[in-house]
Amino acid sequence: MSHELTYQIFRYVAENLVLLNKADRKNGNSDELNRMMVTFDEMTMGQIMAGFPDLCGIPHQLLPMFLVSEIDQLVCIPYIDAVESYGLPADTCPVPSSECGALVINALPDMGSGFISSSMPCDGSTMASSYFSRRFPNIPVFHLCFPVRYLDEETVQMGAEDIKACIKWIEERTGAKWSWEHYFECMKRFNQETDLELNKWEINKSSRPQLIGPSYELFRKWNYEMDGGIDPRVLPSMKKVDKMLMKAYENGETAWPERKMKHRAIVWSCPAHYYANFSNWLANCWGIDVLVEMESLNFTKHLETEDKEEALRDLARLYERMVMRRHTNGGYQNVVDECWAQCEAWNAKLVIMYQNVACKNMATVQGILDEQGRARGYDLIWIEHDLMDPRTVSRRTMRDKVNEYMRTVMKAEPVDPSLVEFEDEVCM
Ligand code: SF4
Repeated sequence: MSHELTYQIFRYVAENLVLLNKADRKNGNSDELNRMMVTFDEMTMGQIMAGFPDLCGIPHQLLPMFLVSEIDQLVCIPYIDAVESYGLPADTCPVPSSECGALVINALPDMGSGFISSSMPCDGSTMASSYFSRRFPNIPVFHLCFPVRYLDEETVQMGAEDIKACIKWIEERTGAKWSWEHYFECMKRFNQETDLELNKWEINKSSRPQLIGPSYELFRKWNYEMDGGIDPRVLPSMKKVDKMLMKAYENGETAWPERKMKHRAIVWSCPAHYYANFSNWLANCWGIDVLVEMESLNFTKHLETEDKEEALRDLARLYERMVMRRHTNGGYQNVVDECWAQCEAWNAKLVIMYQNVACKNMATVQGILDEQGRARGYDLIWIEHDLMDPRTVSRRTMRDKVNEYMRTVMKAEPVDPSLVEFEDEVCM
């Protein structure tokens, strides 16, 4: 199942790397290709491009920076250093810092007929859009500015108007026409994909979870955020995974051997990019099984596929809950109350509580989470990290936090003592 899910992401990366290279004006070619390409920032979801079958939407920083930092922990260091030497404070979130640094050293492709930025409201993001405009004055930028009060339905129409304006802007920039027929076709597919995802969750909520580990989490984020039902090759693959999953469940199998299935856990807050397979270590070393990650839980409602006005409103509802908005920027209810609701839903007593040291949003609720978690009887393991900069908090230090908690608070013995301590600070 993990191979099948990871392959979908790899294929997307491989195909889009070709396009990034072909379209880059620094490589001197393909004006025609650039006319049909629209780029967006890595938090902006891909679904809007489903209405433009003649165009190609590519997340501009995703492959050169965002995704690759999940494979190689050292990759963003030159970007971060470059922008900090320009004077950017070192406590800015490493996501926008790395984006800006990549622009400073001219590491991103000069491509596309326009760039769509999202209103992800963290401190560094606004800066990242302005760095983009300064590096590529030839590429116009559209700013999607959705309200953050997404639980208030009165704000939805405002989001829908923003989507409409963005569609019009794409049409004007490229000469392409929005196709409702194609959009609905893709969203029908995306709705089926959402159902298959929900089935994985139902099984993982049971006493015999079947999918644990990074491919499960990474696939969900990619599918939800980037693919969004546009690529018809993804649904058959998800159906295949569903079949394997149900078969294993019905046969009474488990995701890991019994000895590695000791503690049910959920992940809360933003995960460390430079330790994308942390959940595998948790299971192998301590028998901690991560059943779901916070960022997977953003939006599961079926998108409208008949009424055009309601479809735009649904698209706004979806975009308002994009990665880094639904919980971390959603305020108290969406990150504190929601955490306990999810612990209950997944029957998990343990929370892997990531603490990005540069994330001001999450820092504001740290004490509240701590206090309420204790009162409710949950075990919260706070694990500091610096998202894309492993020099601030290394992988080893992250593991040490778990080792210490498991030994002193839980009085537990490791499943595999050889994994408690090892050196991996300079490797990928
Ligand atoms: S929510 Fe936190 S981790 Fe995410 S982009 Fe904003 S500052 Fe960074």
